Amino acid sequence: MSLFDQMTAFDHEQIVFCRNEAAGLRAIIAIHNTTLGPSLGGVRLWDYATEADAVRDVLRLSRGMTYKAAVAGLDLGGGKAVIIGDPSTKSEAMFRAFGRYIESLAGRYVTAEDMNTTVEDMDHIRRETRFVTGSASASGGSGDPSPVTAWGVFHGIRACLEVVHGSPDVAGRSVAIQGVGNVGYHLARHLHEAGARLFYTDISGRRLNRVLEQFGGTVLEGDEFYSAPADVLAPCAIGGTINARTIPMIRAKVIAGGANNQLDDELHDGDAVSERGIVYAPDYVINAGGLINVYSELKGYPRDKALADAAGIFNTVKRVINKAKSEGTTTIHASNRTAEERIEAVARVKRMHLG
Ligand code: NAD
Repeated sequence: MSLFDQMTAFDHEQIVFCRNEAAGLRAIIAIHNTTLGPSLGGVRLWDYATEADAVRDVLRLSRGMTYKAAVAGLDLGGGKAVIIGDPSTKSEAMFRAFGRYIESLAGRYVTAEDMNTTVEDMDHIRRETRFVTGSASASGGSGDPSPVTAWGVFHGIRACLEVVHGSPDVAGRSVAIQGVGNVGYHLARHLHEAGARLFYTDISGRRLNRVLEQFGGTVLEGDEFYSAPADVLAPCAIGGTINARTIPMIRAKVIAGGANNQLDDELHDGDAVSERGIVYAPDYVINAGGLINVYSELKGYPRDKALADAAGIFNTVKRVINKAKSEGTTTIHASNRTAEERIEAVARVKRMHLG
């Protein structure tokens, strides 16, 4: 498919190819939609096998950011960037060169951290452009977003419990967390403080020991996560773990966690989960706390405001579940429609002629 055909398929506004040989930079910035505001999305550093893979990834991810910002109610559009290369080759020069390209877009794209990029890399970018978020708190950024993400996931879980049990109360409920890294650890802390019983699985013994020592709970091995006797499964590790193989094992009535792309196949697995009567909080809705955090940084809000806004994910998740019920569809369809309806409504407002 030609590049323009690919842009048309997902309805992208702009793709920018960036090259600076001296700095070892080959990057692609994709701006999907700026109806609601400047496009925002992290920059991923990855050694893609082919350029076509890099283009596919950046187009898919930037479109996802449009939907995430729209449902979260933010004045942001969707964008994303990829730098093609071996993560071990990264340098100050690479990120400063990338920062200069961002600057040339005059605010149409704002970057942030993503896979293999760190707060230090954002600090290099910041020396060339102000259109960067997620840099270290010492240089005016909002720092690690994962506590805010976890706070939003906690409230999303409460919303699901309310839909299923008539009360958002976490006390006495049980939650199985897959991956107790940055997000999973903070989520475990909130759930523990609210009186939940916890199950964990992780490939890192060190991380499992940390949560066991601090919050107690039970470790699950391998597939035991999926059949956990828990009220909620909270995938907080990698994508694609909810799939045709694992869905039949699930006993929990709720899937609500922080990981991106939890469903291996959004449509088929979304249908399968819904047919089994499981309430699924769409990943990009419930894990929007990180995006809310960087949005707060852009607006100059304090972290307290970001945390309060992330708690609003409670209402967003409930709205999406109720919309799915009333329209007889899956929560994924309902959240996608919520995003599209908001973008269409704002686009109409922006087309309005005054006088
Ligand atoms: P992290 O790397 O700190 O934690 C991931 C944890 O999962 C690690 O402890 C790792 O050992 C574990 N893990 C990896 N593979 C596993 C497997 N097969 N089974 C069980 N455990 C496994 O990452 P994070 O920042 O906590 O992010 C977790 C997920 O949430 C990712 O999908 C990420 O894209 C998503 N997310 C994170 C944020 C954020 O603010 N950090 C925001 C939105 C979405």
